[in-house]
Parts: sequence; C-alpha cells; structure tokens
Amino acid sequence: MTEPATPLQTHGYPAFFRHRELGERVVVTSLEGEWIVLERDEFRAFVGGTVDRGSALHQRLVARNLVREQFDVRRAAQTLQRRKRFLHAGPNLHLVVVTLRCNETCVYCHASRADLDAVHTDMTPQTAEKVVDLILRTTSPHVTIEFQGGEPLVNFPVVRHIVEYALQRNRGLGKQLEFTMVSNLALMDEAKLAWLLEHRVQICTSIDGPPDLHDRQRKLPQASAHAAAVPWIRRINQAYAEAGLDPTLYHVEALLTTTRETLQRWREVVDHYVELGCRALFLRPVDPFGFAERTRRVVEYPRSEYLAYYRQAVDYMIELNRGGVEILERYAAIFLTKILRGDDPNFLDIRSPGGAGIGQLAYDHDGSIYSSDEGRMLGAMGDRTFLLGNVATAGYRDIVGHPTIRAMAIASNLDGQPDCVSCPYLPYCGTQPEHNHKTLGTMMGRMRESSMCAVHKGIQDYLFDKLGTADRETLDVLERWTTIRPREHFLQPPSG
Ligand code: SF4
Repeated sequence: MTEPATPLQTHGYPAFFRHRELGERVVVTSLEGEWIVLERDEFRAFVGGTVDRGSALHQRLVARNLVREQFDVRRAAQTLQRRKRFLHAGPNLHLVVVTLRCNETCVYCHASRADLDAVHTDMTPQTAEKVVDLILRTTSPHVTIEFQGGEPLVNFPVVRHIVEYALQRNRGLGKQLEFTMVSNLALMDEAKLAWLLEHRVQICTSIDGPPDLHDRQRKLPQASAHAAAVPWIRRINQAYAEAGLDPTLYHVEALLTTTRETLQRWREVVDHYVELGCRALFLRPVDPFGFAERTRRVVEYPRSEYLAYYRQAVDYMIELNRGGVEILERYAAIFLTKILRGDDPNFLDIRSPGGAGIGQLAYDHDGSIYSSDEGRMLGAMGDRTFLLGNVATAGYRDIVGHPTIRAMAIASNLDGQPDCVSCPYLPYCGTQPEHNHKTLGTMMGRMRESSMCAVHKGIQDYLFDKLGTADRETLDVLERWTTIRPREHFLQPPSG
C-alpha cells in the first residue's frame, strides 16, 4: 500500500477525486464521499479518460457520480449536506465527572482517579446544579449526560441529584434527554439498580477480556474485578428482559481497553464478549491520556501490531456473523455507516470538524469545563490547554465561542489538513486536537506522524479491501453493521 501520488483531478473525464492504491486495486473517492474500488487498468482508463462511454465501467463510474461530463451537482451537494448535518446542532454529549474517587486501580488509568478517601474530589450538589444549568443551555435539542469518574457509584447521591434536577429543569425546555453511566459495577446493589432502571439510565461497563486478563489490568483490592462486574451484567440484562425490552437492543454495553497483552488474545476477547451477551466490541487502541510514562512502556505497542490484531479480530467477528452470531466492531460500523450509507453517525472523534466544544463538553468534579474527557485528563496531568472555564462563572457563549474551541474546530477540519486533503478517506475520517497536542505537540498535528491517522487509515484500508474483494455474504454482514436501531426506551419521557 502506497501513499497517494496524484490526488486531485479537476479537468478531463474524471470528476474531482482522490485515490489510494490497495494491493492490486485502487480506491477512488469523490469530494462528497462517493466511492469505487477499481482494478489498476480500469483506474488508468478512468484517469486517462479512455473509458468506453458504452461500457459497464462507464456506467459504474456515472452511478458513483465520478464522471465530469455527467456530474450531478445537486446530488453531490445533498450528500455533503447530509454528511455534515451535525454542524448545526451544538454540544449534545456532556460528560460529568461526579468524583475522581475509584474503588479500582487500572494499569492504564492514572490521572482519572483518586483513592477512596479523597472525598474532596466529589462533585457537590451545588456544583452539579450549575453543571446542569449550563448543559441545558446548549442549542442541541438532544442532550446526553454521561456520568464518568472515578467511579460514579462512589458519589451516587450526586448522580441521582443530577438526573432529578435535569428532569425538573427540562420541563418547559423540552429537550430530548438521555442519561448514561459508565461504571465498573463493583459497588452496584439492588437499590441503586432499581433506581437506575426506574430512571432509564443506560448502564455501560468496562470488560478487558477473560477473567485473568481483566483482573491483571483492573485491580480491585482483595477481590476479582471481573467477578464483581459479570454477575451485574447478567442481572441488568435479565432486568431489561423482564421489562419486556428486546434483548438484542437492550443489554449492558462494555468497553474494552486494548493493551499489549490484549493483542495476542483477540479470539478469547471476542468470544468473551459474545458469551456476555454483548452485541458490539470497540477495538480501540489504548489512548495516550492519563497514565505515566512508566506505565506506557508496559501497555503501549506499535500501531502496526495493533492493526494486525484488528484485522484478525474483525475477520473472526465476520466469520462468527456468517455463522449466525451477532457481534459487530464499532470502528468498522462507524466508518461503514459513512461509506455505505452516506450518513454520519456523529461519533465525535471521527468527524470533521471534530466534536470538541461544538459536539461535546466535559465537566470535572470541581465544575471546571473542558473540551472533552481527553482535555480533562490532560488538565489533571497539569496541562490546562483545553480548560475553558468553570460553571461557577462561565456562560454558555463563553464556552462554545472560546478561542480554544475555535482553534480546535479549525485544527480538526480535515479540509485544512495538509495530508488529509490528498487522502481518499477524508470524507469519512476525523482527527482529535487533544490527541495531536499530546502526541505531536500541536493541535493541528502532522498526519504522517500521527498514530491516530495510522489507525484510521489502516482500518479504512482493511474495510475498502473487503468492499472490493469480499463475497456477497460478507458484504451483507458489513451492511448489517451499519443498521442503527435507536434505543428509545432510554429517552426520557417529554414531561420528565
Ligand atoms: S487522518 Fe489520516 S486517514 Fe484520516 S483523512 Fe487524514 S490522512 Fe487520511
């Protein structure tokens, strides 16, 4: 696979296109994200304008709006408009850190946690109300409040207060509210669960794989973190089923952190997720935020090793799907939704411009407001670049119009990124200024040195290779992964 050589064509037979060689084939995409995978001789004919106007190839190219003389401007504009729908919304995802205290110690988590006696890192009810007041000033009609930590169950009274206060304040505002909690579940009990179920709070957890792997990475003093979480996953799934909810849609979602040890154990990890009843697995690489250099050397790995792991694991997941098991990979689902449906699932780290400040905000326990959870973690490590203000004093316009947010919107707009402008994956891709800042020392980043770009490019290479070569049954699996079924049960009733 080589870098693109002739990125832009503005005259002759082809309409505007970008391309990338993938083995014996060439991926071609248009400005608005139409695409085709061509054989090399087809590509030569396309570029040279020697395609027979009566040929099947010509018809295929016209069907993808890639032929200049038959270019449909209206169709291109509509596609582009659909892809960028998210631009007019405003922040819809609001991450609230109700405490830094955590009962677990994870090898990859350092800046995000404090010991259980650090009660000064609990958010107070007064701060929580100011957080909610600011959240509900968003211009977005949809608002998701996601509880993070630390471990949110350690400060459960403030979780409850935020939900109840937000529901009360939303009366008359009429926003579509949703609540999500990311918890290790070790401090769950029946009373808390009953309250969470009654208030339709979606529950997510972290599972790093089979018990030995999970427990090596996530340590619960004198107990198994895995054994503390799994019975609650089953219990919650059972409660959803008892409430008459479709188990294929309503079940505990789990998040995986891929460390060096995970790379060798991809098959066990996939099997374990299937066994737990999960329908999705997000094979994210470990991110560079929140842990010490010493730890990085233990858990990190070259992105080439990660991509080999990714390809093996997703091949296996496709094989399982072909055998009737439903499990999808989230990166693939995000990219495929953009590639196959011309839509954007609004995943905030993979869109252009990115979601920092204009799609999401993060609120620390003391009311500090950051561009994202990654920006908050950098803040906890002493780098306040992405600190935007505090709920005690800042207004909504101060935050979303903050110079840092403006700079981040420019930095994450791929149309202004030197390497992205010639990359065929631009219509589907995204970059994260916080990641660029942390790993490359500049919000803009340099894509050819960016580990995030390497991951995005490697995954899209894999997917386009599949789209160009796979049989019908595999293509059907990949298409199924783009079906988004909303979980309407978790939307709060309008009256609260
Ligand atoms: S981030 Fe990398 S993969 Fe994505 S569009 Fe830019 S150059 Fe291409």
